[in-house]
Amino acid sequence: MSEVMMSRMSWQTYARRIAEGAVVFLPVGALEQHGPHLPLGVDAMLSTDVACGAAKLVGGVVAAPLNYGYKSQARCGGGQCFPGTTSLDASTLIGFVQDVIRELVRHGARSVVLVDGHYENQWFLTEACELAWRELGKDTPDLRCMRTEYWDFCGIEVLNPMFPGGFPGFALEHAALIETSMMLHLHPELVDLSLLPDDGPAEFPVYDMYPQSGHGVPPSGVLSSARGARADYGQVIYETVCAGLAGAVRAAFPVR
Ligand code: ZN
Ligand code: MN
Repeated sequence: MSEVMMSRMSWQTYARRIAEGAVVFLPVGALEQHGPHLPLGVDAMLSTDVACGAAKLVGGVVAAPLNYGYKSQARCGGGQCFPGTTSLDASTLIGFVQDVIRELVRHGARSVVLVDGHYENQWFLTEACELAWRELGKDTPDLRCMRTEYWDFCGIEVLNPMFPGGFPGFALEHAALIETSMMLHLHPELVDLSLLPDDGPAEFPVYDMYPQSGHGVPPSGVLSSARGARADYGQVIYETVCAGLAGAVRAAFPVR
């Protein structure tokens, strides 16, 4: 299994893979601040890396990622008050994903996996799956879509040893230990450890206020400490997640 990226295949190669029943992965990320030490594209990069890793394990194809996502929220992404955070309206995101699913189905694909790398996308990707089925299900009753947030495949038993002070939860992990470790493993040239902040964990009320004000968000944009980040942690998390997603795909779809 060599190339998995659809954008790097000829149409004939892609058509053959789809005819063989390949599962198609669509990574969905965000363009969003990730603290001073990480680039804006982390969520799209990591969801694409995970999709590629899982696709290699199950003979899948990875469609070109969506590099934008739904509006950043203070309590899980630091919010919209940072330069560079560039977000979509929900209807745009839903429509984009529904358009891509419709096209994949037209090509013959029947198994689609949305690999979400940005917390705030979750329910809009769900809506895209729901609307895609309502639109396409009658003519293609064998269409199946999976929506997943990739970090959920990394169980607490894997994370616990990496968090001697206790795991703060995935929402506060924005630009923190998990994402920084994965970036150190997968894109070390894009991580500036000299700028690693030691903020947080951020303390928020249990409600959100609009318009967003950035209240409660540390100035760095990082919601909990990234101090313990390590490339070897990133490798363990990445390989765990890829294997977990591949296993879920084998269980959920009629694949080899
Ligand atoms: Zn992120
Ligand atoms: Mn995000």
